[in-house]
Amino acid sequence: MTVIDLRSDTVTQPSAGMRAAMANAPLGDDVYGEDPTVNRLESELAARLGFAGGLFVPSGTMSNLLGLMAHCARGDEYIVGQQCHTYKYEAGGAAVLGSIQPQPLEVQADGSLDLEQVRAAIKPDDFHFARTRLLALENTMQGKVLPLEYLAAARKLTDEHRLALHLDGARLYNAAVKLGVDAREITRHFDSVSVCLSKGLGAPVGSVLCGSEELIGKARRLRKMVGGGMRQAGLLAAAGLYALDHQVERLAEDHANALHLADGLRDAGYRVEAVQTNMVYADLGARAEALKAFAAERGVRLSAAPRLRMVTHMDVNRTQIEQVVAVFAEFNRQ
Ligand SMILES: *Cc1c(COP(=O)(O)O)cnc(C)c1O
Repeated sequence: MTVIDLRSDTVTQPSAGMRAAMANAPLGDDVYGEDPTVNRLESELAARLGFAGGLFVPSGTMSNLLGLMAHCARGDEYIVGQQCHTYKYEAGGAAVLGSIQPQPLEVQADGSLDLEQVRAAIKPDDFHFARTRLLALENTMQGKVLPLEYLAAARKLTDEHRLALHLDGARLYNAAVKLGVDAREITRHFDSVSVCLSKGLGAPVGSVLCGSEELIGKARRLRKMVGGGMRQAGLLAAAGLYALDHQVERLAEDHANALHLADGLRDAGYRVEAVQTNMVYADLGARAEALKAFAAERGVRLSAAPRLRMVTHMDVNRTQIEQVVAVFAEFNRQ
């Protein structure tokens, strides 16, 4: 039985073309700056996104951490969504390792932060307060795409208050493909961007932090500090380069599959949230555990949460989406 895994877009296996690119990549010691493939990935992605520098790191968690630490000093504060990855799902790293105080705000239904709430949360220059230094946004945010006009407004606000603006762009390319724009139309509003190669892009490992030369210089020192300096890392960077060249446009298929899944589940009687990119959220309530077990017996791997998240990716095709719908329909009939 082939398992259909909808828990995350991190579960993809490297494609045959990607494995070949990895096997043939020229390598060197990247801590000495001598890995040509890492250097190419860093400079190419930075150039594509409109930044002077890039830094290849093992994970999106590290990429965000280094970005926040490069912008903020000990005792500084960053404003972030309560439900955002850097605040909620990175083990509190910015606070623990960077001594950066988070100021979390509730995320709105469309995935954005209310900019008036952001403005109100910016601390005046007064020794009672932490120094507000940065606003962090996430795009896509739980599968939702932040509108370009919103990004422009966030940039205007951060300029007015001399804050840096960081993007957790783990799924930046899902947002760009959905909007039908060059990713640069999104990233041009930001001082730094973290991009995951290991989500929908399908690489096995790795993220890239992009920013100014100065910021990336600081981040490179921090990467060494937290143990993220890797040696013949071009083996991994080659997968990222392959993904950027061959596996970006196909994200549209994942989005179409997510829409198809959502429609099918609605027809089968489920309450499903509106879909924008590759994430489908269904309201399972107390039935989540039972559904997870039922689906597992039929080859479908799900997370178990009352608000169930299903993520489409390159290792799930349209036929398999229809199998998933059939399993959900059967569960509803029992
Ligand atoms: C996955 C993810 C990250 C980074 O995750 P890693 O597993 O550390 O690579 C960061 N932000 C968001 C929104 C993510 O989905």
